[in-house]
Amino acid sequence: IETGLTADCTMLEIGENREFLMTRPAFGGNLMATIICPDHRPQMSTVRPGVMTRLSKDENRDGKITDFKVNFDHSKMKVKVLNIIKEAKAKVDITEAKILVSGGRGVGAQGGFDNLELLANELGGVAAASRALVDAGIVSHDRQVGQTGKTVRPDVYFAFGISGAIQHLAGMEESEYIIAINKDKAAPIFGVADLGLVTDLGKTATYLVEEIRKIKAEK
Ligand SMILES: Cc1cc2nc3c(=O)[nH]c(=O)nc-3n(C[C@H](O)[C@H](O)[C@H](O)COP(=O)(O)OP(=O)(O)OC[C@H]3O[C@@H](n4cnc5c(N)ncnc54)[C@H](O)[C@@H]3O)c2cc1C
Repeated sequence: IETGLTADCTMLEIGENREFLMTRPAFGGNLMATIICPDHRPQMSTVRPGVMTRLSKDENRDGKITDFKVNFDHSKMKVKVLNIIKEAKAKVDITEAKILVSGGRGVGAQGGFDNLELLANELGGVAAASRALVDAGIVSHDRQVGQTGKTVRPDVYFAFGISGAIQHLAGMEESEYIIAINKDKAAPIFGVADLGLVTDLGKTATYLVEEIRKIKAEK
């Protein structure tokens, strides 16, 4: 803190005295702390990808590209890249999706998540997950939303069977419109949801898929 540097923020705002308000996980990720450095300048902060909204394209602006030649002395380098092996499976970029259909522990097993993928496909979106499903080996880590996953801001975020732990909320609460489906009406996810359905998630996902297919067939 003495250096005025805070890394890996999940939120960055400007305070009253033009100080950074740098929010990041603290105490092993069990709470979010907003750090202020009133006495040290310059203030610096790094933010996680997806935290800032992208500016829309402005054709009137131009920039200058300057090539900067860096002369590396390879004999002084302690780390050498021996080989680059690409992962065979194509990774999914959940940060680019406009619609995310996310599932949590409540989804249960692989079949439950497959159902959500079906819904995501019908909606033209992408399926994502809480860490619970990643830890269970049902979903790959590139689809994990949250503090140790990705920060996302889709237009619509469906949370199926996700309780709304602070580490999950840190990655999705800035979504434009949040729809939570949970059988527990006291689940914290409802605190950030724009629309909440207190019901069984399996029935809801199946119902939505059927209704969307009907509407598409009528067109
Ligand atoms: C350092 C640290 C980093 C972490 N990073 C992340 C992270 O990046 N992302 C993340 O997600 N978590 C992260 N976690 C884990 C986090 O604390 C929670 O444990 C996790 O988010 C819980 O996942 P969940 O909501 O899917 O499961 P649970 O908390 O178990 O919630 C399951 C929900 O499903 C509901 N449910 C069950 N059955 C049904 C049904 N049939 N119909 C409807 N609802 C149903 C239940 O009511 C419940 O609310 C982190 C934890 C730590 C300590």
